[in-house]
Formats: sequence, C-alpha cells, structure tokens
Amino acid sequence: MPETRYIFVTGGVTSSLGKGILASSLAKLLQSRGYSVTIQKLDPYINVDPGTLNPYEHGECFVTEDGAETDLDLGHYERFLNEATSQANNVTTGRIYQSVIDKERRGDYLGKTVQIIPHITDEIKRRIKILGSKGKYDIVITEIGGTVGDIESLPYVETVRQLKWELGNKAMVIHLTLVPYLAATGELKTKPTQHSVKMLLENGVQPDVLVLRTEHEIDLSLRKKVALFCNVGLDAVIESINVPTIYEVPLKMLEEKLDITVLNKLGLAINEDIDLSAWNSFLTKHKNPKQEVKIGIVGKYVELHDAYKSIVEALVHAGAENRARVNVEWIHSEGITKENVVEKLSHLNGIIVAPGFGHRGLEGKIQAAKYARENNTPYFGICLGMQVAVIEYARNVLMLEGADSSEMNPKTPHPVIDLMEEQKGITNYGGTMRLGSYECRIIEKDSNVCTAYNKLTVHERHRHRYEFNESYRQQFVDGGMTPVGINPETELVEVMEIPDHKWFVGVQFHPEYRSTVLNPHPLFIDFIKNSLVEK
Ligand code: GLN
Repeated sequence: MPETRYIFVTGGVTSSLGKGILASSLAKLLQSRGYSVTIQKLDPYINVDPGTLNPYEHGECFVTEDGAETDLDLGHYERFLNEATSQANNVTTGRIYQSVIDKERRGDYLGKTVQIIPHITDEIKRRIKILGSKGKYDIVITEIGGTVGDIESLPYVETVRQLKWELGNKAMVIHLTLVPYLAATGELKTKPTQHSVKMLLENGVQPDVLVLRTEHEIDLSLRKKVALFCNVGLDAVIESINVPTIYEVPLKMLEEKLDITVLNKLGLAINEDIDLSAWNSFLTKHKNPKQEVKIGIVGKYVELHDAYKSIVEALVHAGAENRARVNVEWIHSEGITKENVVEKLSHLNGIIVAPGFGHRGLEGKIQAAKYARENNTPYFGICLGMQVAVIEYARNVLMLEGADSSEMNPKTPHPVIDLMEEQKGITNYGGTMRLGSYECRIIEKDSNVCTAYNKLTVHERHRHRYEFNESYRQQFVDGGMTPVGINPETELVEVMEIPDHKWFVGVQFHPEYRSTVLNPHPLFIDFIKNSLVEK
C-alpha cells in the first residue's frame, strides 16, 4: 500500500459553493480508480460538535455508526462513497481546544506556554493524520470548513501550510472558488478568484488545483488567465458548472480530468479502468422516471431544506429505485390544524413526519398522523414522527385522554412516550442522547418492515432521549397498533405499525442516515413503492 496522501479542500470568495460535494465527487472518482479514500471535515466553530446546534443554524446533524453527531457533509461523503464515516471524520475548533486544554490541565505541556502555533496546529495535524495512520486509506481528503480569509479558519490554513511543507508531494491543496457572471456586461469575472488565491498565498499556501464554480462555461482564454495569475498549470484549472443534480458532479469532474490531475500531482498510478457503472445506472434511473409521486414532509424547519438533507436524499435514491420522480412538498407542522388538514394533505401520495425536538409544531404533526391513519395514506414516521403516531393513536383510538410524550408535557396522565431510563438524571446536553447504531430485531414476519428489509435483524442509527413506554404495550397491541421491531438487549420498541393500514410505519431510528446511492434504504424504497399504488 502506498504511503497515505493528503488532499486539502479549501473554499474561497463565498460559502456554500459545495466543498462537500466537490470532495465527495473527487473521492468517488479516486475510489472508482481503485484507491481507498476517506473524507474528513474540519469545522471552524467553537461548539464541540453540531449536536447542540439548532438546525436553522447549521442544517441537519448527521449521525455516524459510532454515534458521533456531525456536520451534514458527512452524509454526502457516505452517500457518495458508500462507506461509513466515524467520529474521526469530523473535528471542530471546539473539540481541538477541548483536547489541548485538557492536556494543559493534566500538565502534559510541562510548563510551556500553550499557543495556537504549535499546540493548536499540532492537535489539528494529529486529527488529520489519525485517519491516514490507520493503514486503511491510500488517500485522506480533508475539507476545511468556512472560507479562506475568515479569522476562525486561520489555524487550519496554517496547519495546511505546515503539512504541505512536511509532506511535500504527498499533500496537495484544491481551492474551490466562484467565478461570478455579470449580466450587465455579459462577462465572467476572475478577480474574486485571484484575490482569494492571494489571500491563501499571504498565509503561505499555494493551491495546486483551482476548481471554479460557475453558471456559464469558462473558455480557454479565461482558464489561461486564471492559470497565469494564480501560479497553476492549465490542467489544474477545473470548471465546475451548475448541474441539475449533485450526483452528476463526479461525471463533470471526470470530464474535467480532476482525478487525473490530482493523481499526477500526488505521484500515484492512474488506473485507466475506472468503474462507474453502478453510479451511472443510478443516474439513468434517476433522470428517466416513468411515474411521479408526491410526498409531503411535515416538519418545523421546512424553510431550510438542509435541516432534512438525508431524508430528501434517501427519497431521491428510493425514487430512482422505483423509477419514479419524487416530488417533495414541504409542509410546516405549525400550520396544520384540525380544520385545514384535509386541504393540506389530501393531494399527497405519502406522508413523512420528520424528526424533531420540543413542543413547537407538535400538534400539527399529530394531525398529520391522524389524517394518514384515517385515510389509508402511506405514513412514514421517523423518530419524533413515530412518537407522534403513537400519541395520536393513544388519544384517538385507545381513548387515553391527554396522552403525550413527557418531553412535551411532563405532567401528562398517559406518558405513552417517556424518557429512557438511562437518560434520567442527565443534565449535560452535548453528546448524551441514545446515539449511533443499534440492533433491531423484527418480531413480526407479517409486517411492512419485514417485507421491506427481507430479514429479521437490522442495524440502524439513533438520536433520541425518549422511547415508547413499555407499560402501554399490551394496550396498543390489543388496540391495533403493533410493535414490530425491538432492541434485543433492552427490549426498547423500535418500530410500530398499524397492520390494518396500507403502509403505516413509525421507526424510532433514523433510516435516512444509511441510504446511499448504491444502497438505497429498503424502508424508503418500500414507502415510495406503496405511495405509488393508487388508494
Ligand atoms: N425529541 C425526541 C426524542 O428525543 C425525538 C428525537 C428525534 O426525532 N430525533 O426522543
């Protein structure tokens, strides 16, 4: 195995250019040429992880197999590479400082003054190299969050400078920038790119490759100009033009020969046998749907679609598998009432009630579950979506008046959803939920989940504090809502279904985190399949 190579992806000019998609696309190409690749994200904020962040601030919190609460870009990494990431793949400034300060308190620095250089930068380096040192990866791609020029990104850029110096041609930098189009003059402008490269140079970093995000084709003369001003070869100026789906970006990067340029720079062999057949077959299915289906996502962060990123992508994967275009309709849970629920939901083929925390919008979600149950509309309740289905059933079918989750109403006479035993007494909110992958055993062969998974033991990822209250189990079974999946060790109920319904499934876990392009999630596939069938 060759010595591990390190690729750093930085961003210039503006945020939201798609560093995560670029890193994932490059990784996909390198993987398809036979290299083992992983991607890491370094986030410049002080939170130890994004677990405590409001989704409005930072989009979805992605949960890894090992229970790390991470940036949503890790979801892209997994969906593109079809490989699990872990805690080591996402590091924040908060986490870096936390370890340095812990070491300082233990006296590990032997009386030295603890400083950004070398102590913070050394810790960043250690976190980058951890992935390479496992002997598992030929190439580690590290995405530096934020934009070059931000004060908070400086220690990361400085670390990149040091590592480039130490590792020579075993490390390289790809800088992603924007080439804006001025409609008034009909021109593409390279000045912001030049300035952002200058800023990198001021910090001692010469980028090896420039990827230019653009809405219009960049011609040869413009490429030459960028190459000349920014000290890179013409082959290292890569155009990244808008494409209809993120899943086409790897193909664009292949056309631009980004992978070839990168492998040449890193001194790695170029395997001409690139295998993207499975990827292409997904794209063909995705781009040539034979039918359409309208799925409503009921949530309280619907203004920001990134808050439900993995669910949306899982629907894309499942749609392709069913040769169907999935049209997502966003429905704000706070806007659903008893009076307008029919108007809001009756045109939908299937309803997803999204995960969430806290009381806001809860009653609207309960109305959505009630509507789906009463109208035989396929219902997929994820985490809180399962919990509201249980509350709704308790209130309206089992006639348990005032039934609720103790998260929403600690004084409820019927806490059908209650705090998990191991969560009682926890006062620290960071990283203390039930997190990561757990086994779930399907106990009802005659259930939708059993049909969908086609097996009896599955592993899914969790992120919650509350659970179905075991003491109500018999009442639910007798009343027609059945626990069909349980955790074999703790007996916690993980899946609820209504057998009499067309497709009514509530899962305590988050199946969306495991859906990838090459492995669309069976529950999403089955949900779409059933939503396609006329009532
Ligand atoms: N708030 C609920 C709990 O903590 C559901 C969490 C979620 O939907 N991820 O159990």
